[in-house]
Amino acid sequence: MTTRPYIVGNWKMHGTRAMLAEARAIDRAAERLLKVEVAIAPPFTLIHATRKEATLIAIGAQDCHPAEGGAHTGDVSAAMIKDAGAGFTIVGHSERRADHGESNALVKSKAHAVIDAGMNVIVCVGEIEAERDAGKAESVVTRQLKGSLPEGEDVAVNVTVAYEPVWAIGTGRTPTPDDVAAMHRHIRGVLNKFYGDAGAEVRILYGGSVKPENAAELLCADEVGGALVGGASLTAESFLGIIMAAAEGERD
Ligand code: PEP
Repeated sequence: MTTRPYIVGNWKMHGTRAMLAEARAIDRAAERLLKVEVAIAPPFTLIHATRKEATLIAIGAQDCHPAEGGAHTGDVSAAMIKDAGAGFTIVGHSERRADHGESNALVKSKAHAVIDAGMNVIVCVGEIEAERDAGKAESVVTRQLKGSLPEGEDVAVNVTVAYEPVWAIGTGRTPTPDDVAAMHRHIRGVLNKFYGDAGAEVRILYGGSVKPENAAELLCADEVGGALVGGASLTAESFLGIIMAAAEGERD
């Protein structure tokens, strides 16, 4: 298993072909940052073009349909995503859970579809603010993990978990590094129970308002294996600031 920090940009519903220049710039710099594993998840419409422009970094999708194919107007299957050039797919992002009412069971079926198609999967979990205030953050995340993770020790090697407190996404607010570390240690414990020994291999990313200015302190928190980055991944300048912070942390 690679121990390099994994920095993933989630472009969400942003980007036309004009944004390929950002991907190109990130890819060129990533060549010089061998200590970091870098990935971008552009919208479906840009996966193929981004793969062609950026050859060193990983390219992925932000969602998929759980079925292999069929009468699902407007949806995209994992096999189609792979065919377009992606190597991973994010599932269970809180915006999908909230905007499209995605349940843990649906997220799990999507995660299995991604793995069956031969890709890696990033499974997102995270509590809303009221749940944290009520002291329920860990129990909520446990339930999401148990309900959303693909099953089988053999698939753990293809799984990354992204812990994204919903109240930190796009808000400029973040948990303290101590709170991040506590939640990541908790997630590691759940993974160890869920996957047995293979649970130790699963990377756990932090996501929620990561920026060049706060990346170093969040990335060095216990059990943080990288970051899932939304807004700050949209320009090469800010995304590279985060990538460089991750590389700095690997220096000694
Ligand atoms: C995200 O949506 O995955 C995310 C972490 O967004 P942001 O970095 O903008 O908070």
